[in-house]
Amino acid sequence: MLSRSDEKKLEKLNAFEISNKMLGLAQKNEKGNIFLNAGRGNPNWINTKARFAFGRILEFGIQESQRTMNDGDMAGYTELAGVRERFEAFLDPDTNETDRFLETVLAYVKDDLGLNQDEVVKEFIDGVIGNNYPAPSRVLKNSEIIINQYLQSTLYNGIDLASDTLVFPTEGGTAAIVYIFHSLKENKLIRPKDKIAINTPIFTPYLEIPELNDYDMIEVNLTSKEADNWQISPEEIDKLNDPSIKAFFLVNPSNPGSKALDQKALDEIQKVIEKNPDLMIITDDVYGTFVDGFQTVYSVAPHNTLLVYSYSKLYGATGWRLGVIAANKENIFDKLIQKLSEKDKKELEKRYSLVALEPEKIAFIDRIVADSRSVGLHHTAGLSTPQQIMAVLFSLTHLITKENGDAYIHASKELVNKRYQDLHKALKIEEDNSKENAKYYSIIDIYALAEHLYGNDFRIYLENNFEEVDFLLHLAEKNGVVLIDGVGFGTSSGDLRVSEANLPTEDYRLIGKQILQLLKEYFHKYVESLNNVDHGGSHLE
Ligand SMILES: *Cc1c(COP(=O)(O)O)cnc(C)c1O
Repeated sequence: MLSRSDEKKLEKLNAFEISNKMLGLAQKNEKGNIFLNAGRGNPNWINTKARFAFGRILEFGIQESQRTMNDGDMAGYTELAGVRERFEAFLDPDTNETDRFLETVLAYVKDDLGLNQDEVVKEFIDGVIGNNYPAPSRVLKNSEIIINQYLQSTLYNGIDLASDTLVFPTEGGTAAIVYIFHSLKENKLIRPKDKIAINTPIFTPYLEIPELNDYDMIEVNLTSKEADNWQISPEEIDKLNDPSIKAFFLVNPSNPGSKALDQKALDEIQKVIEKNPDLMIITDDVYGTFVDGFQTVYSVAPHNTLLVYSYSKLYGATGWRLGVIAANKENIFDKLIQKLSEKDKKELEKRYSLVALEPEKIAFIDRIVADSRSVGLHHTAGLSTPQQIMAVLFSLTHLITKENGDAYIHASKELVNKRYQDLHKALKIEEDNSKENAKYYSIIDIYALAEHLYGNDFRIYLENNFEEVDFLLHLAEKNGVVLIDGVGFGTSSGDLRVSEANLPTEDYRLIGKQILQLLKEYFHKYVESLNNVDHGGSHLE
């Protein structure tokens, strides 16, 4: 068992690192319980349709390559002429469901998007074969159009922005975040000691990156509280009217709070933009598809906002590393670069003169592409083409179902919802069934639960006599349940994050039971300590 000072040291680590340390403890837990890791947000389901389609396209693509050269394991380049026709002859939609999907895709790209089917099929097969550097380096041509349609359909809530939006697919949302911070700094849009606002509690990297030496920015927290159902109040959003705040980073729906901004908050943000038109907003909408009628801040303030999205969670694709940065063609980032001092602009022209004849004119999103490969290696920048096609295929599984509703998205919402309900029922705590609740994570306030079950004195005893990670560590070591410490995300102490994504549904009731059982043990300790006091006991020694 760890001493209190060891626990204090542990609390300094990143929440995910603490969780990693607990995994070993939980696997050989004292009670011999089954090991339950509800710490990570990695989903335990996958989308099959897009993956099957990827396989078929790869098969067809190799066949096409063999048309131009076929010597043992060696084949040649594919050809554009007639490729759509040959693809349709290859497909067998009558007996194969995947082929039926690909047939529908061919009709969709022509009828709904007005794309050239031969070019789309060629982009698909060359993409999955992966024998050319990504060109254009930011994103493949038809892929950009399809990804734009996907973002619009899932995140913009009916607002038409697809044709005004540029996208840059990245190695997951993670790379998107890193690239954006880096280019904001390189382009002098954020400087050391600048103030940036963050909606806390938030996914830990957003708390940690600004503090790192490289960035050294001052964080202003826009805090959402459990009492407000984890919504940001209008008073908090009001802080953004301060023109010394350069940028606002938010995760929407939030992580760990799992709540989308409501209409009131979106309206407030729109008002802020009128008063503080230079505010840069970066919104990470990874969980947007888990909320009915979701609306991204990008669709409310398109010229001020960079949108980050990832396919990781919805499609069970964390290993693929599929994220995207989206920016409006007209945006404040480009304008702010134009407003820099002549000296700064000269410096940036020099930086980007390696990759463009008119470096002063490169859009911010293309600067992000160049910066992602330290400018010098721009000619080999861009997300790998098989990854781009995988993102496109995930997008298409949604786009072709538009009219009838997307059964896959519906099922993934139902899945996390059921787990959320089971956990809350087991803990006998109130559910939040508001439409903004993505239910991908729950925050369980151990102190509130303690008070609710055993009274305020017990709560105070817990708060005063134990480090806040003590419960979490015991839960792992004794009961075999790994959760994540919310404090690392900026919640109040005692908040534990349960992921509704990564365990079989039947385990969520067990997690609730284990939490209650351990709390009871703390309560017994408390009762014992009271008895000791009554008998003039050990606390005096
Ligand atoms: C999971 C997560 C990501 C990471 O996405 P990847 O695409 O897997 O890199 C980004 N942002 C938030 C808020 C997340 O929870």
